[in-house]
Amino acid sequence: MEKISVAVRFRPSTALDLPEDRKWRVEDNRISLHLLDGTPISGVSFAFDHVFDQSSTNATVYDLLIKSIIHAAVNGFNGTAFAYGQTSSGKTFTMNGSEDDPGIIPLAVKDIFHTAQMTTDREFLIRVSYMEIYNEEINDLLTLGNQKLPIHESLERGIFVAGLREEIVNSAEQVFELIKLGEANRHFGETNMNVRSSRSHTIFRMVIESSVKDPISSGDVSNADAIRVSVLNLVDLAGSERIAKTGAGGVRLKEGKHINKSLMILGNVINKLSENGKQRGHIPYRDSKLTRILQPSLGGNAKTSIICTVAPEEVHIEESRGTLQFASGAKRITNCAQVNEILTDAALLKRQKLEIEELRRKLQGSHSEVLEQMILKQRNDMHKSELDRERLAMELEEERKSREALEHCIKEQQKKIDNLTSLANSSSQTRSSAKQMADLRNTSDEVIMSQEDVFKTPNFKEKPNDFVVKRSNCSRDLESSPPPDNFANIADEDLWMRLNKGCTTDLDMLQMTPDMKCQSYLSSDISVLPSSFFMVQFLMM
Ligand code: ADP
Ligand code: MG
Repeated sequence: MEKISVAVRFRPSTALDLPEDRKWRVEDNRISLHLLDGTPISGVSFAFDHVFDQSSTNATVYDLLIKSIIHAAVNGFNGTAFAYGQTSSGKTFTMNGSEDDPGIIPLAVKDIFHTAQMTTDREFLIRVSYMEIYNEEINDLLTLGNQKLPIHESLERGIFVAGLREEIVNSAEQVFELIKLGEANRHFGETNMNVRSSRSHTIFRMVIESSVKDPISSGDVSNADAIRVSVLNLVDLAGSERIAKTGAGGVRLKEGKHINKSLMILGNVINKLSENGKQRGHIPYRDSKLTRILQPSLGGNAKTSIICTVAPEEVHIEESRGTLQFASGAKRITNCAQVNEILTDAALLKRQKLEIEELRRKLQGSHSEVLEQMILKQRNDMHKSELDRERLAMELEEERKSREALEHCIKEQQKKIDNLTSLANSSSQTRSSAKQMADLRNTSDEVIMSQEDVFKTPNFKEKPNDFVVKRSNCSRDLESSPPPDNFANIADEDLWMRLNKGCTTDLDMLQMTPDMKCQSYLSSDISVLPSSFFMVQFLMM
């Protein structure tokens, strides 16, 4: 068990000329808020694993906070580093950096290839993917148009994003090209990139597999078949600031709700995890895509570092306090990271080994650079066809499930028709209608029956108007309010307040219920018109 490492980083101030009454002070690994005359403000003092002041460089942050995670990832441990903070506090600067001061992602990529090269007794297979979570939808940044990807979980692969492009790479330069492509795709169609980037989370992911190169000469025969597989996530989160309740509308408001909600769920997960083990209870990982994807990194099998970025200006003090509260909660989380060694075919390296060896033999004598390029191409082709196969299998499974559901529904409707028919048959006053219903049953497979016919049935004489009115109300409600959506109707101001205070919030409390009108009508009034209702539904199918 080990604690998550949490650091806070201040970016340089942009308000140098403005007079300020309160100032943050950094001393070693402590931050506190002071009045201009130096008096500390009580209750606003925090300690973390590291605190980086305004003069710190990305290289320093990398060396002190991230490097150990990267090296552990090369050795088979899952790793995650993420940047949290309000917009313009320096998250992207920390993760991506600039020409002069490369950020955590480029430094990590270079370090991984360098470390892998130095580890001469192992062979490595490294692949990357790059995704964005925007309005609770996962988009592939490496393939334009590859959007709304689902999350799946399997015993072998753990939690994964299905259909996400993964590219096998063998140099840092190749990775940088892919990142450039991802950034270009992200910009596509966006008029205001800054607005979007502060409202989406990006996850840059590397999967590192390795095995002993030559088990016989290295004397490591027992490990010949074991392959280490680790996943490294480098995450740039959306801005954690309050989205003003008033004034924001349409697209901006919707985005704000999604961000606030997913960051709030991240806060909830962190708060739950920081509670004493026995009292923890349910951890709401599944409440947002972000926490679901990061599940292994939070309280699971991964080494995790969080860098919380802070804007030092006085106008941002409330947001900064919120960030520091979040950071304090995260500090209490413990993870249990282990080397992931697998013996099954789940490791790509293992599945590809024979074919690659074959290719290597065939190409012996070729120039080594050509050989490497050929092998890389072969690896990528093989991996792509595997991913395609997996996607098709999943689509097939989905189709099978919906077919089953449809069949079940048809059976249910048939039962209703049968019930209705026997009701009609048993009524002495309704001979003619019974006949009609019997006809209906006999031809039910190709029935094309109008609503009117159903209501002519004497048994329902009392109800039709009632029914028609309610049903039309119901459909009107449906039109005006979309089907229940977990992310609609959120009191975002309240969410933000709760997020800032770092306390756990019951999401159900925060959702209003107008969307449910139609459902509650169905459940409460169901006794009034069950058969006809279902029959009409059936006919509408
Ligand atoms: P965020 O991603 O949190 O919205 P950015 O990383 O885009 O914020 O930073 C906002 C601005 O501040 C950018 O112009 C960035 O270059 C600058 N900046 C942020 N952190 C630093 C830093 N540590 N040193 C120098 N400039 C920084
Ligand atoms: Mg940013």
